[in-house]
Amino acid sequence: MASLGEFDFIGQFLKSQAAQGQPFFESPFALGIGDDAALIPPLPAGEQMVMATDMLVEGRHYRPDVDPESLGHKVLAVNLSDLAAMGARPVAFTLAAAMRSIDPDWLTAFLKGLFTLARKSQCPLIGGDTVGLHADAPQSFTVTVIGAVPQGKALLRSGLQPDDDLWVSGSLGDAAYAVSRWVPDVKLDWPDPRLALGHRLSGLATAAIDISDGLSAELRHLLEASSTRHSIALGASLDWQRLPLGPSLRAAVDTQTITEDRARIFAATGGDEYELLFTAAPSAREQIAAIGNDLSLRLTRIGQVSKAPVAPCGIQWSDSQGQPIRAELAAECAQGGFDHFKS
Ligand code: ADP
Ligand code: MG
Repeated sequence: MASLGEFDFIGQFLKSQAAQGQPFFESPFALGIGDDAALIPPLPAGEQMVMATDMLVEGRHYRPDVDPESLGHKVLAVNLSDLAAMGARPVAFTLAAAMRSIDPDWLTAFLKGLFTLARKSQCPLIGGDTVGLHADAPQSFTVTVIGAVPQGKALLRSGLQPDDDLWVSGSLGDAAYAVSRWVPDVKLDWPDPRLALGHRLSGLATAAIDISDGLSAELRHLLEASSTRHSIALGASLDWQRLPLGPSLRAAVDTQTITEDRARIFAATGGDEYELLFTAAPSAREQIAAIGNDLSLRLTRIGQVSKAPVAPCGIQWSDSQGQPIRAELAAECAQGGFDHFKS
């Protein structure tokens, strides 16, 4: 195929596919790709708008030889995961693409991953920007997603209360375990944003966050946000044995490839999981279990919020006898988390 330009890309690759299977465009007030800006129909009364942006940068978040279909899926999935963590439903998204060239095969695969998830989540692409880069510059893809949530009902990081239960969806650690071995993994490459769970938790959970940087780091974010809001020091006690290990980690423990403690470190600190970590009052236990059943999604109660900090960073891990786990393990858990500007 002859080399394609920016406007061929927008016209042939984006515009034609963006509206397929998207009820959003049934509204006379909706406008997608093609004008100077997109138009979003008014939200139903009683809902407020939610927005989030996440970018994926080559060499930073993904390898140059990444499967383009999974990358297209992932750049939307990580944004939808942020909506899920707010208890919001998706409305629409934009895509900013900075690319060295327009490679039709690569882009066809990328857009297949992107549009398949967009249709599944009823979240149409309504605009964006496209920039050509120098030959040695890293490519990047940035999605801004718009969602809606019942007014005042968004799940915030700052909402947790002393004595709340701590819950986590799905299983943990497989994505980081895959990264450590340089192997592909469904969790890592095809994250499944927990939108249905987030929606059901709105009005029930007290706080929520999605696990992109690891459970331990995300829990610290929850505790910090809530401690600031309530002006009291909050901590958490967690049950080391209850951490739900991913299937690859489980198998690796069963075959004695790694120790159970090593597997639990992966589960406690591994990023790229896109599960929800959330808190709720103990009185909500039955309702939460019922939601897990309805959605066929494992929901595990892994600990409890406490009033005073119980350990460095306020997080205390205990074994099944209620004894603190070994200091070296606890220290490794406390190190989890990622800051782009700290090494
Ligand atoms: P402008 O010069 O007004 O910014 P552009 O030429 O950048 O317009 O874009 C033309 C149209 O194509 C706009 O509607 C814009 O939203 C859309 N568009 C450009 N790049 C993308 C992209 N990567 N994804 C989706 N829509 C895009
Ligand atoms: Mg533009």
